[in-house]
Amino acid sequence: MSVPQASLTFPEGHSVKSLDFPVGLFINNEFVAGEGGKTIEVKAPSTGKTIAHVAEGSANDVDRAVEAAQKAYDTVWGERCPGHQRGKLLMKLADLFDEHNQQLASIEALDNGKAYSIASGFDVSSAAACLRYYGGWADKEHGKVVEVDDSKLAITKHEPIGVVGQIIPWNFPLLMFAWKLGPALATGNCIVMKTAETTPLSAFYACQLIAKVFPPGVVNILTGYGNVVGAAISSHMKILKVAFTGSTLVGRQIMKAASQSNLKPVTLELGGKSPNVIFDDADIEQAVSWGAFGLYFNAGQCCCAGSRIFVQETIYDEFLEKLTAKVKSIKVGDPFAADSFQGPATSQLQFDRISAHIQSGKDEGATVHLGGNRHGTEGYFIEPTIFTDVQPTMKIAQEEIFGPVVVVQKFKDEEDLIARANDTVYGLAAAVFSRDISRCLRIANKLQAGTVWINNWKLLSLHNQLNTQMPFGGFKQSGIGRELGEYALKNYTAVKAIHINISQPNPL
Ligand code: NAD
Repeated sequence: MSVPQASLTFPEGHSVKSLDFPVGLFINNEFVAGEGGKTIEVKAPSTGKTIAHVAEGSANDVDRAVEAAQKAYDTVWGERCPGHQRGKLLMKLADLFDEHNQQLASIEALDNGKAYSIASGFDVSSAAACLRYYGGWADKEHGKVVEVDDSKLAITKHEPIGVVGQIIPWNFPLLMFAWKLGPALATGNCIVMKTAETTPLSAFYACQLIAKVFPPGVVNILTGYGNVVGAAISSHMKILKVAFTGSTLVGRQIMKAASQSNLKPVTLELGGKSPNVIFDDADIEQAVSWGAFGLYFNAGQCCCAGSRIFVQETIYDEFLEKLTAKVKSIKVGDPFAADSFQGPATSQLQFDRISAHIQSGKDEGATVHLGGNRHGTEGYFIEPTIFTDVQPTMKIAQEEIFGPVVVVQKFKDEEDLIARANDTVYGLAAAVFSRDISRCLRIANKLQAGTVWINNWKLLSLHNQLNTQMPFGGFKQSGIGRELGEYALKNYTAVKAIHINISQPNPL
């Protein structure tokens, strides 16, 4: 069976003209056809047109990938490849990501729909930075000598887990790929990963680079449907850990599959409905600017998007006026146009989900202050949308929309704010804007969120790159465990305690 190929062409005048590369399942450093030669159609969200057909994985393909990963783990990887060597390989891959920045960013802009300038300056460069950062950790994650008594030397080892499963979404295809690869490889695990079926192309391109660096079987990448390949990974008896980024709904299914199979540990990075709090003593220009960025970046398809803006009532009108002007200035359109900021929703399905949320806001009596419609006539673009007159019980105030839709609400004082900001099942992120740092810290302490930004929305800051060093993850139903930083290493290591008798003969 022949291995599917992607032949992508880019718009006139773009720095990359065309790209041809294999889009078969990547197992043992080779591209192979999926079982039965089945394929999945991939569309460009900015036009809705088909751009490629990629191999569709099956449960049997997951078995093939696990076999390859296990063989690599038993023969060339894990503790057989010392940390400093693993680190060198990760850094080499990071360099290749940088060298192929234009190609990877072009694929991301076409396949996901995000602006090319952002894909290049943020997604791809942050992915490289993440791999490089974990390359640095590879020989530094080690155990301890533990003081017990003088009869023994007690030590701990932080061992790799073995073959680990990873399932990633479509909103930051390459960046999520790197967030998962980095800590797992640094700590010596072998990988079976499923990319999102809607945005598999950048990962397949990157697999060509992986094949130049890592031994066969260390990294295996499949695409396929969640209920087939994703389910096979999360219930596989030989996969000893699963890490997932995506919806809370699917996170529950993964946890269930893990508990009903081999009780593999699970890390989940799920949804959010993050509050962005503006006090009346804030620098309003900054709060408006960060607030718009914190929501409309990536067309609102960020798990940590600041989708509920709470403004102190004394400055509500002024803030709303300035926010409206700022949002009106957002350029929505062709991902390859130099001035585009907001691209389309990434798929027809996501477009339909966002549109249904907008309709529910209208039906429940909220006011569409700005936007609220499809943008243009082709592709899956949605106008940047602001809702006002929102009641806390409305769907648009409670459910994750994952699109360019923000709800702006008033609050009275700190007590009122805390009750309302925490009135959500989620707890991924939050932001506070005030010139009073004591107040900011007081609020940060009370917000139920895994990340709190004070006077910024910095995690997704363009050109500043993402803070790979800082942990990221959720309270409440936003997830379990932390990605990034030193914290992510713990997700991929098993601690072994070794007791060494150094003096006492057996007393019996
Ligand atoms: P999803 O959770 O369905 O998909 C994410 C990944 O999980 C994909 O690779 C998908 O194929 C896989 N998957 C789906 N069903 C599975 C199953 N039963 N077992 C294992 N894997 C499975 O997300 P979606 O439907 O693409 O988007 C829905 C919502 O998820 C969005 O509106 C948003 O709220 C949320 N989301 C969050 C993030 C995030 O970064 N936290 C990313 C994407 C989507």
